[in-house]
Amino acid sequence: MHIHDHLDTIDACRFCFMCRHLDTTANVTFREADIPRGRALILDRVRMNPEQLSNSDYINTMYDCALSAACRQHCVSSYDEAGLVLAARSDIVEAGLTPCDVKTLADSLVAEFATEMTGNAGDILYIETTAYQAGQPEIAAAFGKAMAAAGVAFRTLRVNDTGKALAVLGFADQAAEAARQTWDAITASGCSTVVASCPATFDAIKGDSTGLGAALDGLNIQHTSTYLLGLVTSGQLTAKANRAEAIYIDSDFLRNYNGITDEPRELLGACGYALKPFGTNPEESYACGEGAVVFARLRPRLVELMRERFVELMDSPDDLIITASPYTRHVLSQSDGKPVRVISIEEAVANRL
Ligand code: SF4
Repeated sequence: MHIHDHLDTIDACRFCFMCRHLDTTANVTFREADIPRGRALILDRVRMNPEQLSNSDYINTMYDCALSAACRQHCVSSYDEAGLVLAARSDIVEAGLTPCDVKTLADSLVAEFATEMTGNAGDILYIETTAYQAGQPEIAAAFGKAMAAAGVAFRTLRVNDTGKALAVLGFADQAAEAARQTWDAITASGCSTVVASCPATFDAIKGDSTGLGAALDGLNIQHTSTYLLGLVTSGQLTAKANRAEAIYIDSDFLRNYNGITDEPRELLGACGYALKPFGTNPEESYACGEGAVVFARLRPRLVELMRERFVELMDSPDDLIITASPYTRHVLSQSDGKPVRVISIEEAVANRL
């Protein structure tokens, strides 16, 4: 079983409460099963009695996890509580125990898989992940505006899933195939720099290529926040630093999976945004389930609760929220009541050109 690769985490987390206040799911469900300790206790039982993996409550608890990795990020010993859940999901799928809703979602991701290349000039390849970004054309349009202002040509690769969503659902083989086809398209473009607006896509290309059986050696892979910051600091892109207050919401994949915290803030600072803190604890994730990639499709009720909690934590409904994640922008812009003023980091830059 894959969870056997994480016995150190099971042993450590099952006796520890230290990060319970940082679990993104538990902060809206208030269930002990939804903190790393609860999940470790469940998987310790499964370790000793593998037949208990078929327990539907256990399975649903693994898929209720938002995978923000905020607990791992702030664990003094960096125990990989998120990796443990991913391992359990792989065990569930490989044992033929996949819940119907998870299977339906995975099947739709496979059926929808497609790559489309547009543009034919430039050494830069911009990846537009269609799962959330394509429904928000403002993001790609803002990136295009910044690139035009900097005088940099680029091509665009559209893909619904680089394999990341399938991987977090536990479908390793299907994820590897989607990754291979995505990597083939990237390689065929001949570009040397790849830029992604979606942090999950950035993480997949930057970090998962070897694990998914594909390799992108020698490529410069960047999230739009670091790429645009490079254009600004090199003088290629000049932004008007009109002062405005805003709140930057960290992306799970940028902060907790890749340690990128300062660059988005530097970019926004160069564009005149005076950033205010958000929430009661800066260590918490407010990305509304971004780490689980397709969480809004898999667990819409939990995401609704996360959005409601986010709105409750806002100082004012007029606050301008800036996010580096198309997923988080999508979730926060879905509101039955007064909509949240949320824009992507690309739009924040484009508004200053
Ligand atoms: S991740 Fe670290 S802080 Fe959290 S329960 Fe495990 S050992 Fe404790």
